[in-house]
Amino acid sequence: MILSPEDIKRISDLVKKDPAQFSMKTEDGLKVLRNKERNNGELVCFFLNNEGLCSIYDLRPKGCTFYPLIWDMKQHKVISDDYCPYYKMFNQFINKFTHEVEDFVFRLYGEI
Ligand code: SF4
Repeated sequence: MILSPEDIKRISDLVKKDPAQFSMKTEDGLKVLRNKERNNGELVCFFLNNEGLCSIYDLRPKGCTFYPLIWDMKQHKVISDDYCPYYKMFNQFINKFTHEVEDFVFRLYGEI
């Protein structure tokens, strides 16, 4: 999940951890959440707890609040991520949230 500078500051203050512990930089310079490995080798979000819940839910990254709506880099538009088993249910919200998702992505990438 992409992280804005505001996400990183808010989460770092909340969990009292250095951002390097829960975030990393991608090749294109964006900051994203780190994954952690479970005992069975499965990679999951750094903040997913053992009960399968988000441990920072109230202050989760902005991009998580939109999910499964995401910006598709190839199609250049907002889609519902078919990695989510319920993604079809969210197709109806694409138009409603497109502007908000675009604003968020635009600020991070500087262009769409
Ligand atoms: S909602 Fe929480 S557990 Fe899920 S990706 Fe976002 S930060 Fe991680």
